[in-house]
Formats: sequence, structure tokens, C-alpha cells
Amino acid sequence: MAPTDVLVIGGGIIGLAAARELAEAGARVTLVDAGRNAGSTANAGSLHVQLQSRFMRLYPEQVPRVEAALPFFRKAVEHWESLERELGPFDFVRKGGLMLADDEAQLAFLERKAERERRRGLDVEILDRAALERAAPWVAPGIHGAELCRDEGMINPLLAVSRMISELGRLGVRRETDRIRGIEVGNAGIEAVGERGAWRAGEAIVAAAWGSGPIARSLGTPVPTMAEPLHMNITEACGERIAHLVQHAERSLTLKQVRTGQIVIGGGWPAEDRGPDRVPGVRARSLLGNVGLAARLVPALRSLRLLRSWAGMNTTVDGTSVIGRLPGAPRVTMAVPADAGFTLGPLIAKMACALVLDRPPPADPAPFSPARFGRSGA
Ligand SMILES: Cc1cc2nc3c(=O)[nH]c(=O)nc-3n(C[C@H](O)[C@H](O)[C@H](O)COP(=O)(O)OP(=O)(O)OC[C@H]3O[C@@H](n4cnc5c(N)ncnc54)[C@H](O)[C@@H]3O)c2cc1C
Repeated sequence: MAPTDVLVIGGGIIGLAAARELAEAGARVTLVDAGRNAGSTANAGSLHVQLQSRFMRLYPEQVPRVEAALPFFRKAVEHWESLERELGPFDFVRKGGLMLADDEAQLAFLERKAERERRRGLDVEILDRAALERAAPWVAPGIHGAELCRDEGMINPLLAVSRMISELGRLGVRRETDRIRGIEVGNAGIEAVGERGAWRAGEAIVAAAWGSGPIARSLGTPVPTMAEPLHMNITEACGERIAHLVQHAERSLTLKQVRTGQIVIGGGWPAEDRGPDRVPGVRARSLLGNVGLAARLVPALRSLRLLRSWAGMNTTVDGTSVIGRLPGAPRVTMAVPADAGFTLGPLIAKMACALVLDRPPPADPAPFSPARFGRSGA
């Protein structure tokens, strides 16, 4: 196979955005993707900025790292906005995110959380019941109040991904299907060994989400990527107008209305892991729990029918995205998101490409370096 300047491994939002950025800069780029379980084509399109209560509950040890990266999340949403201006509409909306509290204790938790987020530069405010009703008249009578984060929003991920793919066509990026097993680094470049063959290039960007860990391990860095199968639903169109991204202070929920009126309901309910080669399975328990919670918080949903439920593969690491050259293998640059990877995706791609193209990065890459994992056996 003909050599290329940069091999991008993984064709989700990060791989696509990276391939676009590199090709725009004049590099010859090949993108190789295994063709399965991209979170980018299964996700909810929420643009997250505030600390997610789900994440705080499940991964408390990772919260300090996520908190330190909050300005990065905010910058990532701004980057999406500028991308929409460049690529054409994909329903970017930034009307803010509401995190609902059922009682006084949950609101007190949100007050403490908002204080921490304000210190990191987020535009947050606590709404009492009266203020919440003015902002969100559709909210259930029992809801006590909410935190409003004005930095949050949403996009249509399928439109955004398809616009990125069209860009790669325009720029002449070669797209291939293969699963990379590992990378070997020589003096002149890299060779990625896949199931179909060997792919040679000057350097590589690894943007294979849950599949990135084994590739990094083949070069001696134990990046602990984990696959996390998650559940999603979409209802038929709803007459009520819901402008915000909606979450809950304690329970797993994201809820939003797309431009055509349907309500997308998710927020991290588990799905059945069927291995990397099969799409995760929908669990009835998650389906019922997820839509039941949504209907309790937003009564207008109770009369709607579900159009579809599905499951997709998310990726977690240690709470911090992994962006940077691999220690001991500087021709290989990692580009893997922490939680909320669709929000962060294009900005992570831009950071990784800045390293490859030797340009100033849009944010300090040091906190994201894969060097924090050390070297196997070291
Ligand atoms: C149900 C669900 C809902 C979500 N909702 C949101 C949300 O609302 N907001 C948000 O910000 N984030 C959300 N996420 C997370 C987000 O979708 C992901 O973090 C993000 O899309 C990851 O993008 P990526 O480019 O890193 O990888 P992915 O889109 O996961 O793509 C990785 C690609 O790499 C390929 N690959 C893997 N291993 C190899 C290999 N060895 N060789 C070659 N290719 C390989 C895979 O086949 C895949 O195509 C959600 C995730 C899920 C599953």
C-alpha cells in the first residue's frame, strides 16, 4: 500500500476532524477504521460543559481531573459553533443546560457544584422554582429548582458526522476499512499492522476510542481505554417546546428536543456489552428506567410513543482526555476523549493535529499527555 504522510486510525468524530485538519494543511492522509461501534454515530448530541452528576456518582476519583478541564469543555462548544459556520448547518443550538433538583438537598448539591464551576469560568446560575418555571414551563410540579449552565447546547451528531465525511471526499482523504492490531515504529516512519495488511506512513494519529488502548500498549504505553455500552431513545415529535439540554442532579438523564420536535432521551443507562465486534444490546430495564424518569420530570412526554431505542459504545479513560505523542514513540499521537467525547471531539482533533503539524495548540496539551500512564514494565 502506498505510503502516506499521516495515518489516522479510527473514523469517529475525532478521526474525521483530524483527517480534515491535516488534509487542509496539505498532508496526504489515509484514514483507517474498523467500521464498528463508533460512539459518534450512536450518541445523543448533547454539548456538555457543567460537571455531570452521573459522572460524579460513578467515577468520584476522576472528578478533580474533569473539574480542572472544565474550560476545555467550554472551548470545545465554541469550536463546534465555529465548525458549523465552516461546514454548514448541523443544528447547533446553545440555549443552556438545566440540571433539575427534586428537593432541597439536591439543590444544595447543585449550589456547591455551581460555585466550583464558576471558579473555572463557567456561566452558571441557580434557579429557584419560580425562576425555573419561567425558563422551563414544561417542568413537572414537584421539581424544586435547577442549575442553569448557559455554556451548554446540542447538535445533530449524524448531520455533523456526515458533513465531516463529505469534507474528506472534497479533500481527497483516502478512507479504508481495517482493524489495526498494533504499530511498529522505524526510523523513517510507522507501520500499522491490520487484519487486511500493513499501513505505512510518516506518522499516525490514534483516534480509535475504546480500541486505542491496545494500540498504545503495542508501543509500551498502558492507556486504559474502556468500552462502556450505553442506552438511548427517541420519541415521536412533541408539541411542547423544550429549548434546553436537561439533566438531573442525582439520576442518569439527558433529554433534549431536536429541531423537528422529537425528544432524545439518554444520559448513560447501561446496555449489554456484546464485545467489540457486535453492537451492544438494548436492556429492557434501561429502556423503562430511562423513559420513566424522563416522563416523571417532563409530564408532556407521558403521551408520546417511542420511535426507537438503541445502544452504542462509549469510551472512558481516567477522566482526562489523552492527547499527545506517545512516550518512546513520538511518531504516534493519541487523540482519545474522556467522557462527553462528542462535545470534545473536534477540539481534541485540533490539539492532536497541532502537535503533528508543529503549530500552536488551541489549549495547553500538558494535562492530557499520555506520559501520565508511564511505560509498561517501567
Ligand atoms: C449512547 C451514547 C450517547 C452518547 N452521548 C453523548 C453526548 O450526548 N454528548 C457527548 O459529548 N458525547 C456523547 N457520547 C460519547 C461520544 O459519542 C464519544 O465519546 C465520541 O463519539 C467518541 O468519538 P471518537 O472519534 O473518539 O470515537 P468513536 O466515534 O467511538 O469512533 C472510534 C472508531 O474507531 C474504530 N476502531 C476501534 N478500534 C480500532 C482499531 N483497532 N483499528 C481501526 N479502527 C478502530 C471504531 O470502529 C470506531 O469507528 C455518547 C456515547 C454513546 C455510546
